[in-house]
Amino acid sequence: MVWVGCWVMAFAVPATITAEESQNSEGDDEDVEIIYHELNGDETLGTVALEYEVNVTELKKWNELESLYEANGVEPLEVRIDKETSNSTSPRPVVHVVRRGDTFEDIARQYGVRISQVRRWNQNVDPRRLQIGQQLHLHVPGADGHPVSWGRANSGRLFNGISMECSPGLTVRNESRSYGTQRTIDMLQAAAADVQERWPDAPELVVGSLSLRQGGPMRPHRSHQSGRDADLTYYHRGNVELPDFRDMSAETFDAVKNWHFFKTLIDTGEVQFIFVDYELQAILYEYARSIGYTESDLEELLQYPRGRRGAGGIIRHARGHQNHFHIRFECGDLDQNCQ
Ligand SMILES: [Zn+2]
Repeated sequence: MVWVGCWVMAFAVPATITAEESQNSEGDDEDVEIIYHELNGDETLGTVALEYEVNVTELKKWNELESLYEANGVEPLEVRIDKETSNSTSPRPVVHVVRRGDTFEDIARQYGVRISQVRRWNQNVDPRRLQIGQQLHLHVPGADGHPVSWGRANSGRLFNGISMECSPGLTVRNESRSYGTQRTIDMLQAAAADVQERWPDAPELVVGSLSLRQGGPMRPHRSHQSGRDADLTYYHRGNVELPDFRDMSAETFDAVKNWHFFKTLIDTGEVQFIFVDYELQAILYEYARSIGYTESDLEELLQYPRGRRGAGGIIRHARGHQNHFHIRFECGDLDQNCQ
């Protein structure tokens, strides 16, 4: 079954930033390093995408693969690495030319920075005597066009947010609430594609909220403000496709696929936490033990069995996560004031 939202999304909302970026990566050869990767052992397109920090949909395109499953046993995969992105660092300085009626407050709001920062960068300028044509110096996150997660997840912003589109194994429910940093989106898409490759009948996960296009408050969430948070459905046993969030139980929770999805992402070292209901954690714990994880292996991964308020565990309890999980990714290299 295909979620209708995907098709609406795919045709109606061409994300301008994504389009520009893919043009860059195809047009300008000098900034792109091409690597040929031999798929071996347990690897999938998804794990290769995670390893090289590229997008799995792009990876398919570079190799002219129609589906995920064609990659098995074919020639080395071509992987294009955008050198410019990986080297780009601090915010680019921007010059703002003062227009009639501008105040520091307007300018700060326009560029998504704080008034105190505008003051600090322009110490010789008197905010009460701004003159038309005068130049102000600003250091704007994402001025070079790359997505930037700025500040805290519960009070931050998102610059140049990338719109998450449907991809193998993922259905996006509401495009206006599905913006994230490139890495957030790449990681979720890669992990879902990896599950699809291993279990071709796996259902699609429904993506609830990420962040708004420019981040900031988004009801009813407290976090989800800086492009590093996402809510998704769990995998349901028997490959049942869920139209929306639904409470899970021991009968319906697919420990194998959920564990695999979480572990794939946690192994990148870029997951801060995953909120999973404590009772569902118990199912993950039992499953992980059954495939050979020791108690001490699991200490760092799961809060279970130390109680709902127990310390530690990347996978941990928070109220309201029986029908979906919430994942928060770590700050990326290009993110700023990120906490
Ligand atoms: Zn959430």
